[in-house]
Amino acid sequence: MTRYSAFEQFVMNVTAVTELGEHMRRITFHAPEFASCTATGPDDRINVRTSLREMPEDTRPALRWYTVRAHRPHAAEIDVDFVVHGDAGPGTRWARRAIAGDTAGFRAGGSAYRPPAEGSVLLVADETALPALAAILEVETRPLHVFAEVPDESYRLDLDVEWVYRGDAEPGSAVLKVIRGKALSTVDYAWACGESALATGVRRHLTKDRGVDRKAIMFSGYWKAGSARE
Ligand SMILES: Cc1cc2nc3c(=O)[nH]c(=O)nc-3n(C[C@H](O)[C@H](O)[C@H](O)COP(=O)(O)OP(=O)(O)OC[C@H]3O[C@@H](n4cnc5c(N)ncnc54)[C@H](O)[C@@H]3O)c2cc1C
Repeated sequence: MTRYSAFEQFVMNVTAVTELGEHMRRITFHAPEFASCTATGPDDRINVRTSLREMPEDTRPALRWYTVRAHRPHAAEIDVDFVVHGDAGPGTRWARRAIAGDTAGFRAGGSAYRPPAEGSVLLVADETALPALAAILEVETRPLHVFAEVPDESYRLDLDVEWVYRGDAEPGSAVLKVIRGKALSTVDYAWACGESALATGVRRHLTKDRGVDRKAIMFSGYWKAGSARE
């Protein structure tokens, strides 16, 4: 099977939309390419494009990053779980209105979750990184420290993680407070993804306060409060 990255970009068709709660919609896409390509890892990212790049600026495609939550080659399908946050950006606007028969562009990304073969792993996510976190939890067999910071209980999914609610506080501040208070065993590898302040805050805490090697930390600002993220 070929990796996603061999297919730089192609068109996908929406075949189903499933509500995963008040704030998340699972959109199932079909494309013939999904029958013969595979992910590079559990947190594989893709660019979802809503039209073509060659178009003039005023009608240029919007590109936003999302995670391949599940891939079913036999059905040539993938699932992508979109957080819907009003109409503030093209990603959420598109996802809120998507129905079967709609199309979107796929552009390959790649995975970033690269833990060592052995050792303890810390995973920290916010609501936008829950799809990647859920996919990682499906393949991980070792004991993990797992924290998910979401605005409130209505964002929870059926995952075995320590949930932290931030309410109106700055993203990352609530989960950092919880992690700081934990007597964690050694952290041999960490993956921290979500709003930019969460990702950088966790990384700073691990390197400065816990002496974790910065090369053993994969962190990524999946979105930035107040700014569009292309
Ligand atoms: C590798 C990677 C994987 C990702 N995987 C997923 C995924 O599987 N599912 C998913 O939902 N997101 C995922 N994201 C995050 C997603 O790309 C961003 O949330 C993106 O900003 C959404 O685009 P938009 O067009 O809706 O908003 P933008 O046009 O980017 O931003 C418009 C406004 O909305 C705000 N905003 C953006 N996202 C949110 C949010 N979630 N909640 C509240 N306000 C927000 C911005 O701060 C800005 O003010 C991923 C990001 C990366 C980098």
